Amino acid sequence: MNEKRGQCSICKDTYTLQHVEIAPGTVVHVCSGCIEKAEDNFIWLCLTCGKVYINPKKLVINRIKDLELKKAYMLCEELLVIQGIDMCIACSPERMLDYAEMSETVMEC
Ligand SMILES: [Zn+2]
Ligand SMILES: [Zn+2]
Repeated sequence: MNEKRGQCSICKDTYTLQHVEIAPGTVVHVCSGCIEKAEDNFIWLCLTCGKVYINPKKLVINRIKDLELKKAYMLCEELLVIQGIDMCIACSPERMLDYAEMSETVMEC
């Protein structure tokens, strides 16, 4: 086991031993406070610029109109979701169609 301490990638505030695989082959440190946050929120971390998007699960699921997608999201409502995304609206607005809804959510809070 790797016992190296690292800076939490979500709050960038806490050093922790805990880590989470956010994308295949990509492991980042996440502190217990942020892991707790992931119980009620989907957390997306941009792998390009490091920006973090935290969205309440209920809100995200309510906004999804596509039934199949909604089902998929509801399945992961029970799980801790900390996920890496290749790019975000901040680094690539024109390629962010899939994530457009997320960023709106971010701006509301
Ligand atoms: Zn943290
Ligand atoms: Zn980004």
